[in-house]
Amino acid sequence: MPKIGILTSGGDAPGMNAAVRAAVRTALFNGFEACGIERGYEGLIDGEIRDMDVSSVADILHRGGTILQTARSDRFRTEEGISKAVMMIQSFGIDALIIVGGDGSMRGALELAKRGVNVMCLPGTIDNDLGYTDFTIGFDTAVHTVLSAISNVRDTSSSHERTTIIEVMGRHCGDIALYSGLAGGAESILVPEKPYDISAICKKIIIGRNRGKRHNIIIKAEGVDIDPFDMAKLIQERTGVESKVVVLSYLQRGGSPTANDRILATSCAYKAVELIRDGSRNRAIGIAANEIVHFDLADALKMAQPFRENYLAMADVLS
Ligand code: ATP
Repeated sequence: MPKIGILTSGGDAPGMNAAVRAAVRTALFNGFEACGIERGYEGLIDGEIRDMDVSSVADILHRGGTILQTARSDRFRTEEGISKAVMMIQSFGIDALIIVGGDGSMRGALELAKRGVNVMCLPGTIDNDLGYTDFTIGFDTAVHTVLSAISNVRDTSSSHERTTIIEVMGRHCGDIALYSGLAGGAESILVPEKPYDISAICKKIIIGRNRGKRHNIIIKAEGVDIDPFDMAKLIQERTGVESKVVVLSYLQRGGSPTANDRILATSCAYKAVELIRDGSRNRAIGIAANEIVHFDLADALKMAQPFRENYLAMADVLS
């Protein structure tokens, strides 16, 4: 019986478990064997591979993180590491690999593809930084987590008439800041894609205060090139408004996946197995205009991520 291997790689993202569950069960349904590879490419190199059946993925759909564990693997970036990984794939009799991870994991998958391994990639990252798909698995949950933080911070920010800077994840892609800021009514949204203007931010705070506004929330992506504590100090000096910082950090990675993330993960994994069954090779699977789509992996990795200027403009007008 042909065998499909599943691994999760890079930063964990809510919905990875939903993808693992769907991949295993769809594989078994289609007459494949299924196996799980522990700790991403690290575990692949070390042969940490176990058979999976219907029960091994029971009761995980609602859980954050990944039951297969994940890792960042420096060894996999070396020729020796990749060769060992390919050897393991051959010796465990794996015919195709489903890889759930971000941009880096997909680049790793491409290295396997170049050496003859059939890889199917699912966009598993909270960052939403992959150009070929409208959304990545975990992004929606991360935005909801930030939203909940915004509402808590707003209560205390209003009570004390403060400005609060909330720093969220996003080194190169500001989508978590953009979506949570727009949905949460933040006064200012700072993303790495756009230069920020501290004078405009301060002006907004003063105008807001003069019209009786008691809170001011600034959402700043971590990739925006200023330390949030320095920024708070600067704002306080220029406006006289007390300014605090909340760094959400890893809080954003965990938590039970939203329905959207579970459905996206499930649909992508289901599609991945169908593609393997039908003889496709090396595809990146995602969603565009609400439909599941797939592209040649190398082409998918070249697609640029569009930035939603209109979201930033709307947020600015409305705040
Ligand atoms: P996240 O978006 O959450 O950071 P990611 O998949 O982009 O997830 P990375 O740490 O960039 O996370 O990549 C995961 C792993 O993929 C790396 O630790 C490494 O083993 C492998 N990898 C990344 N880039 C390459 C590459 N160019 N060649 C080979 N392997 C790579």
